[in-house]
Amino acid sequence: RIEDETKTTLKVKENKFDPKKQYINERGSDKDHIYIVVIGHVDAGKSTLMGRLLCDLGEVSQKTLHKYEQESKKIGKQSFMYAWVLDETGEERVRGITMDVGKAQFETKTKKVIILDAPGHADFIPNMITGAGQADVALLVVDATRGEFESGFDLGGQTREHALLVRSLGVNQLAVAINKLDTTNWSQERFDEISKKLKTFLKQAGFKDSDVTYVPCSGLTGENLVKPPSEVELLKWYNGPCLLDVIDKFNVPERPISKPLRMPINDVFKGTGSGFCVAGRIENGVLNKGDKVLVCPTKEMAEVRSISINEMPNNVAFAGDQVSVTLSGIDMQNVSVGFILSDPIQQVPVATRFEARLVVFNVKVPITKGFPVLIHHQSLVESANIVKLKSLLNKSTGEVMKKKPRCLGNNSVAVVDIEVSKPICVERYKDVKELGRVMLRVSGVTIAAGLITDMYNS
Ligand code: GDP
Repeated sequence: RIEDETKTTLKVKENKFDPKKQYINERGSDKDHIYIVVIGHVDAGKSTLMGRLLCDLGEVSQKTLHKYEQESKKIGKQSFMYAWVLDETGEERVRGITMDVGKAQFETKTKKVIILDAPGHADFIPNMITGAGQADVALLVVDATRGEFESGFDLGGQTREHALLVRSLGVNQLAVAINKLDTTNWSQERFDEISKKLKTFLKQAGFKDSDVTYVPCSGLTGENLVKPPSEVELLKWYNGPCLLDVIDKFNVPERPISKPLRMPINDVFKGTGSGFCVAGRIENGVLNKGDKVLVCPTKEMAEVRSISINEMPNNVAFAGDQVSVTLSGIDMQNVSVGFILSDPIQQVPVATRFEARLVVFNVKVPITKGFPVLIHHQSLVESANIVKLKSLLNKSTGEVMKKKPRCLGNNSVAVVDIEVSKPICVERYKDVKELGRVMLRVSGVTIAAGLITDMYNS
């Protein structure tokens, strides 16, 4: 009997502590989430394409669409109605450009896709970084119109910069929409010409051929976006997947539920009952009601009194979930935005100095040793200094071009050491993607993005 009892206890434990089993029990066949960033030269048709895709998938109500149609007629830019689905502010509408990273989502057969839209203007690259920093995969939109692809690609356009940037931020799967092919009467020759040029470049930029798919389409007419082609001219030579199917085939980064708990805090507020609440996205692991967690970098223990997901109480939450958590056993004043709830045993590293691989894209004066910056890490903002310039890398291959460079100018990729004014929680990018990325800002302008490769205590 005793033996039996032991077995049962063990069994309960096993269930409770096997995160994967627990996830399947709780969630069944929940669709995987994937974050996509849309990149490309200004006017490539990014907003129109994503807007049209959302409309065709029924994500936009007829009423809203009608409103946009009326409004766009009024200012005489009717072709912009789809783009508005993604553009939020009035200013953007008048100027006809997408300025900020707007969010929208849709579903494919197997996935829930969250779009981080990106603006195409050179000035707005820092905004794009914010989107790209969260992306799992990217959609590169190019304008197939004769002369337009060339100006976006060859002549100082944004196509190359964007592709290199997302690759540097860790994105390795790409769908390429060869867009506005309606303007070439669906010419196969033009499609081949563009894909060939891009193929050579993307390979140099570090994308594997097998991780890049080229799709002929038109965001304006909706051709080959969510269903197979119907254009006779296109059907003559294309029998591949539509854009939606390409997105559906992306490999989803696995929800790291078996890794130790990491939950960055992006809000702290007084709840209704006792204790107080913290909110954020669980990046790693599982959080159970009743769990003891370590609040870092200050390393105080707290207890999870309740968990809610979308305002609904839950006993458990997993990596990927956006949650609010009631904590007890710790003073609210000792918890700040930018702190992390960590597994008490396998703790999040706390450091004052770390090494990062930076992409510099927007400095007025070159970065030299001692350069002061503000680092943005999740929702944490902290003053810091670039204390060591270790090496300058080749943008495409990542090879070291120069050791100990004197300074770093725009468009350089380099390995540096950064020292923060206070200890912060950081992870290596290879261990926890979301906690391994930093943005560097100076006077409100994002000047560089980086991946954390190592950390030290100083
Ligand atoms: P973004 O700057 O990349 O977001 O580009 P927009 O979506 O704002 O589109 C730029 C311009 O191209 C607008 O005038 C659109 O109407 C036009 N456009 C967008 N997609 C297509 C397309 O598939 N075919 C054609 N012919 N024009 C398009």
